[in-house]
Amino acid sequence: MGPESDDVVRFWERLGLPGIIDVHTHFMPEQVLRKVWAYFDAAGPLTGLEWPITYRYEEEARLAVLRSFGVLRFTSMLYPHKPGMARWLNGWAADFAARTPDCLHTATLFPEDGVEVYVKEAVEAGARVFKSHLQVGACDANDPLLDPVWGLLAEAGIPVVTHCGSGPAPGAYTGPEPIGRLLARHPRLRLVVAHMGMPEYAEFLALAEAYPEVRLDTTMAFTDFSEGFSPFPAAELGRLADLGDRILLGTDFPNIPYPYVHQLHALERLGLGEEWLRAVCHGNAAALFPAQDS
Ligand SMILES: [Zn+2]
Repeated sequence: MGPESDDVVRFWERLGLPGIIDVHTHFMPEQVLRKVWAYFDAAGPLTGLEWPITYRYEEEARLAVLRSFGVLRFTSMLYPHKPGMARWLNGWAADFAARTPDCLHTATLFPEDGVEVYVKEAVEAGARVFKSHLQVGACDANDPLLDPVWGLLAEAGIPVVTHCGSGPAPGAYTGPEPIGRLLARHPRLRLVVAHMGMPEYAEFLALAEAYPEVRLDTTMAFTDFSEGFSPFPAAELGRLADLGDRILLGTDFPNIPYPYVHQLHALERLGLGEEWLRAVCHGNAAALFPAQDS
């Protein structure tokens, strides 16, 4: 499907992989996605950061692009920005996963009455990954309403991809400190720190070193775009190499202001070697989300 697909396919073929697994892609109800896109369109004037969406296509076309890239599994990260929305989003995501076999069934949560009930329902319905967006939702991971939920997800071993770093703009509850308190209470929680914890890379790497179930996704990190305002510190490359079994490829497709292949090249140019790339782009996610007989 065009020269970019060829570049992506060449990337994983060179590594001897069967394809790649992307744990951080966004699929959501069309009217919600339009709002997200409108937010990024407005971000330019607001922050001085131009954010042109590269893959502003209809859903079918977006799926076709991912498949042409050889993305074997992906997610439908979606998140509420207010109460009363998560259960509806979870219903949509369950339907989406049912009609999209290569998408991992994704669910979300918000600190509100009833959250424990609908999270349990989503887990029973087969959700394999959760998304929590502390920045957009302006919600506190340590909200007592979420305590039983974290316990339940830790118990079930279900990963929770969490936007908890303070980039691109800090929220009321972002940063490593509240997440450190959460992990101290739920040390076995399979927290996946989105965006490598940008810009607090070192602090979130330290949490991954302290808690064996903590992982980080690469979403937008190391790209020219992110390096422009939140460069990854060269001094931390050794830790990144050592944590090679806990880093997962994520991209933010389709909402990215550059071609997908750039994320892959950005990982490659870190110079951490082919074995590291194979683990990050395929092996680690394959182990975390084993194929299921359905
Ligand atoms: Zn995202």
